[in-house]
Amino acid sequence: MKYLSTRGDATPRRFCEILLEGLAPDGGLYLPERYPQVDAATLARWRGLSYADLAFEILSLFIDDIPPADLKRLVHTTYTEATFGTRAITPLKKLEDGLHLEALSNGPTLAFKDMAMQLLGRLFEFELARRGEHLNILGATSGDTGSAAEYAMRGKRGIHVFMLSPHGRMSPFQQAQMFSLQDANIHNLAIEGVFDDCQDIVKAVSNDLEFKRRWKIGTVNSINWARLLAQVVYYFAGYFQAAQSDDGVVSFAVPSGNFGNICAGHVARRMGLPIKRLVLATNENDVLDEFFRTGTYRPRGAAETHETSSPSMDISKASNFERFVFDLVGRDGARTGALFGEALSRQGGFTVTREEFARIPGYGFVSGTSTHADRLATIRGTWQRCNVLIDTHTADGLKVAREHLEPGVPMIVLETALPAKFAATVAEAFADSGSPAPVPEVPAALAGIERLPRRFTVLPADTARVQQHIAAHAG
Ligand SMILES: *Cc1c(COP(=O)(O)O)cnc(C)c1O
Repeated sequence: MKYLSTRGDATPRRFCEILLEGLAPDGGLYLPERYPQVDAATLARWRGLSYADLAFEILSLFIDDIPPADLKRLVHTTYTEATFGTRAITPLKKLEDGLHLEALSNGPTLAFKDMAMQLLGRLFEFELARRGEHLNILGATSGDTGSAAEYAMRGKRGIHVFMLSPHGRMSPFQQAQMFSLQDANIHNLAIEGVFDDCQDIVKAVSNDLEFKRRWKIGTVNSINWARLLAQVVYYFAGYFQAAQSDDGVVSFAVPSGNFGNICAGHVARRMGLPIKRLVLATNENDVLDEFFRTGTYRPRGAAETHETSSPSMDISKASNFERFVFDLVGRDGARTGALFGEALSRQGGFTVTREEFARIPGYGFVSGTSTHADRLATIRGTWQRCNVLIDTHTADGLKVAREHLEPGVPMIVLETALPAKFAATVAEAFADSGSPAPVPEVPAALAGIERLPRRFTVLPADTARVQQHIAAHAG
């Protein structure tokens, strides 16, 4: 399998060549040259597999430069009951007839990003050892991504993580999650500033090519192809649980931000998994809902980006969206480059042609938006009717899913975080309900985490100081 860029650079690259990369050299994102096709006989054969064996089968279709025995070992050490809480790894929870939650957030940081990041940690360690290289991962986080990366990379040979976060601005639980890690290769840098300052420093360090090469600086952001690929697996796992037979179809509803999660659904559908609809849910940051309703993509500035109670969906632009548009415009790299290059930088947005817009239903996409009031009502209603407590992001997905239910087509809502991470909003949902708020369960592994000793360094919002710190502690 070869990989190419969405902006037309067709230099064929193999999986392990792009594994540690971010953007393609022409500024595009990597995609496989074609989507491997899965027929009914293959689906029938995969139905009985364990999650790890299913992951091995799917990944093998996209990865031909890791020996099969090694790949098998890597997925089997990643997707274990010890790490993800159940033997099924991503079990379905039935809410009512034809409506399910797929649990993706029982990994170490209680959010779905663990599903991919845990595998990425093992793939990175394997590939770096094979090359005899090491890597210093640099990132900025306001919460979920940073902790998922740290829990995936902790203790991995050849890897150090430098994670910048805004000092004193993450939730107490998020701070405890990240700062309680005692591993020598994890470096928490609390920056005296806001999240944007952290991001600016990461950009400045990455643009310092001399420093970047000298210290082998890399990233683990959401455009990484391996992360997206790992997420394809749970669409298959959800399908097998919800569809009674292999001629069934299902729909998925996905709480979306950077379009990474739902893009994996798009890939699964292109491979032939019988998905009727991919229901994209946004919060008040409705850039993507606007596109699927109107054909216009208009990323927002910081001033127009709302801080909401589903914060992991608070995005101004959707970094993986270019992958879908590349397919939508018939895999025309020049056209994709014109839209995401010139049109975005000159006009701040673009509108696809009428003909391109008319193709969207063929890709299964529909969309909708959910507000703070919707989240509260959905959390309360789901508890009262189904006796299931959900988090704010999952609530956005469920609210929009209900607008797209169809008889005879099971709807699977992806549960992207556990309510324990967003306990304050969960309590707010029950404030005027006359009944006491249920208290979200905290998994045993994280109980008392707020009292553990913390390991972090406070630094000013200054690129040179961050570089000095990296140089002094890098691998
Ligand atoms: C990251 C995240 C999302 C958004 O996922 P994308 O892949 O960026 O669309 C939704 N919910 C939670 C809890 C997340 O952490």
